[in-house]
Amino acid sequence: MSLLWLYPVSSSKPRAHALVDVDQRSGCAKRWLLSTVLAMNSGGRRAGVVKAHGKQHGMRLATGLTLIGVILVASTGVPGAEITVSTDFEGGSAKVEAINSERREILIRPGGDPARGWPCWWYLRIDGLTAAEDAKVVVLGSEQPARNNGRSTGKPLAPDWALPDRAAISVDGATWLQTEPGTKKGDGVSYRVIGNGGPLWVAWGPPFTSRERDDLFVRFLAGSRGTASVFELARSREGRLVRGLRVVAPGQHRAPAVWVQARQHAWESGSSWVARGFMEWLLGDEPDAIWLRKHAEVCVVPIMDVDRVATGDGGKESDPHDHNRDWSEAALYPEIAATQRRLKAFAAEDRLDVFLDLHNPGPADRLPFLFVPPADVLTDDARANQARFLACASRQFDAPLTLEPSPRKTDSAYHPRWRQISRVWVSKHIAADTVAVCLETPWNTPHSTTAGYRAVGSNLGRAVTHYLRTRANGGDGIAPELPH
Ligand SMILES: [Zn+2]
Repeated sequence: MSLLWLYPVSSSKPRAHALVDVDQRSGCAKRWLLSTVLAMNSGGRRAGVVKAHGKQHGMRLATGLTLIGVILVASTGVPGAEITVSTDFEGGSAKVEAINSERREILIRPGGDPARGWPCWWYLRIDGLTAAEDAKVVVLGSEQPARNNGRSTGKPLAPDWALPDRAAISVDGATWLQTEPGTKKGDGVSYRVIGNGGPLWVAWGPPFTSRERDDLFVRFLAGSRGTASVFELARSREGRLVRGLRVVAPGQHRAPAVWVQARQHAWESGSSWVARGFMEWLLGDEPDAIWLRKHAEVCVVPIMDVDRVATGDGGKESDPHDHNRDWSEAALYPEIAATQRRLKAFAAEDRLDVFLDLHNPGPADRLPFLFVPPADVLTDDARANQARFLACASRQFDAPLTLEPSPRKTDSAYHPRWRQISRVWVSKHIAADTVAVCLETPWNTPHSTTAGYRAVGSNLGRAVTHYLRTRANGGDGIAPELPH
């Protein structure tokens, strides 16, 4: 005899609905489950379909907006305790298809709403695993039609976007490691996880939410000896605060300005970790960092789309368009409009030198690379500066995440709203000689860890410093030795 615990998982807060005895061996469990689901649906929920997932003694359910998760707790022959999965926390996201406590296997899909971006992000908490116990998290791609180029494609996103070779895993929700490479399983990937006797968090990549941002800022303010401050860039459409870190030496309010932002696309959590690495480096003791603090005003916004980050949605290609297709004179998102105002103010003082937009690329990309505006959008000065910046970055990005030698271009072939992409808008409308580029850091490599991302951020800081130091000298990207 086994127990089935049913709960709806259409929201991020699972609630228990029924705990009943069933006899899985006779097959009546399936019939009972079907009748129960239909009975639940008749109580105001949408009708749905139940498919048996017989071999694993689990059940696969799909009920339209109301999805049913199943926890199967066997009373005999089960090595471990009941497994539960939750996503009711900032950034949490999963559509739980089945939890098989006998086989210690959890089957999920990304839980995001395609109207709020590509449903490729997933992030869940698992309870019930004992210390050193093996379990599996099997992830399939979302079945929902995804949007692209500003409209619904009518078909799901390619599952590769949701299936990293290695998942991120944590025993405290703060320190993130990678699992060993997952195993292809049909259209999905099976990740082996090992319990520690407490909760376990597993995610598409290392999460970075507004809570982590604020904790980080508190630490930065305590340790920066007055050079760093936190600013409120905007309040989002859903009322969340978009915050940034500003670093400028006293009396340097006319210094070259450097603007760094991440996470215009919510699922690209690695970009926030690159921003974090940049900030940690900037506030550290390295001579280049000390030089940059003395000679520039640096603003870093580690999460632009705070709303979709909080709700665990993908952000990219959201309806009607995402943050990085919003750069016009009529921006939809308050944080984009606020950034535009700040950039214009820097440009009016002729000091916006560098604009960096941080992203994560496609699943097949294995090295960092830059996206740049098309050459005909740039002035001669901007083209020359961009080439110098690229030379500096190429020198500073060291193995294993070296920079691809050639940047990629954003033009009309890239996206119908290519003119509303940040780097293009900045180049065209803000300052004639600004370097405005996007850095894409790969997420699907063994180095796409918090340490790997932070190392990229440090290297980016060094590249910016060397660029600013050589720019004044009209050099070729090799920074002269300056007294610090
Ligand atoms: Zn992106």
